[in-house]
Amino acid sequence: MSAGHLVDNIQAVRGRVGAACARAGRDPDSITLIAVSKKKPPADILAVAAAGVQHFGENRVEEAQDKIPQVMAAANAPITWHMIGHIQSRKAKFVPPIFNVIHSLDSVKLAEKLTEIANPQQPIYALMQVNISGEASKSGFNAFNWEHDRDVREKLWGQVTQLVALPNLQLRGLMTIAPFFEDASQIEETRPVFAGLARLRLALSESFGLPLPDLSMGMTDDYPIAIEEGATMIRVGRAIFGERA
Ligand SMILES: *Cc1c(COP(=O)(O)O)cnc(C)c1O
Repeated sequence: MSAGHLVDNIQAVRGRVGAACARAGRDPDSITLIAVSKKKPPADILAVAAAGVQHFGENRVEEAQDKIPQVMAAANAPITWHMIGHIQSRKAKFVPPIFNVIHSLDSVKLAEKLTEIANPQQPIYALMQVNISGEASKSGFNAFNWEHDRDVREKLWGQVTQLVALPNLQLRGLMTIAPFFEDASQIEETRPVFAGLARLRLALSESFGLPLPDLSMGMTDDYPIAIEEGATMIRVGRAIFGERA
């Protein structure tokens, strides 16, 4: 996509972020815009970075290993890289050297793998990916119906206890992916999922005495709703880079 188009798209997203913040009485500076650059070439990433976006998200380890060094070699400003896709155990060791934040921490086992190789001077910054909607296709720690299901809550609290005990891990917050709706008129159905994640963040923060500042939720179709429900990080791909092949 041309650099001009990309800049227009970023402005449009920033406008909608501002409008959602105004509706919710929030400060736009409290929202981190993560441009999701999966399947997009380094040239597009560099154009978006040149327009002032500092945070980028990728979902596949191999693709990131190829692209991140190319972008870093050519970028004029610092970039923070966010891993947002499922990490297979055998690829875990490749993630900390190239990513700054992991949004897709979806098991205690993965956390153990990641922290084994982490350097104590550079703890792993991670968000727990949580499955709030109960869809079988979604990875993440199960939190379906956690407010009403004691077994779910006990298991989840047990998992957090294990994570918190790991050296070299800084648990920063929670991430979720809302269900996909074919029809734009159904988008409001994402709201209870986002609101549920925000309540879970608060409950865990109080139980464990952890700040858990980050709430990563909202994509191209639903980020304004996520902001209204408390997102601090939104992961936006298509609205910035255009449709993916
Ligand atoms: C692809 C992806 C996004 C961005 O999706 P868009 O609909 O292109 O905004 C956000 N989060 C995750 C986990 C993704 O895989």
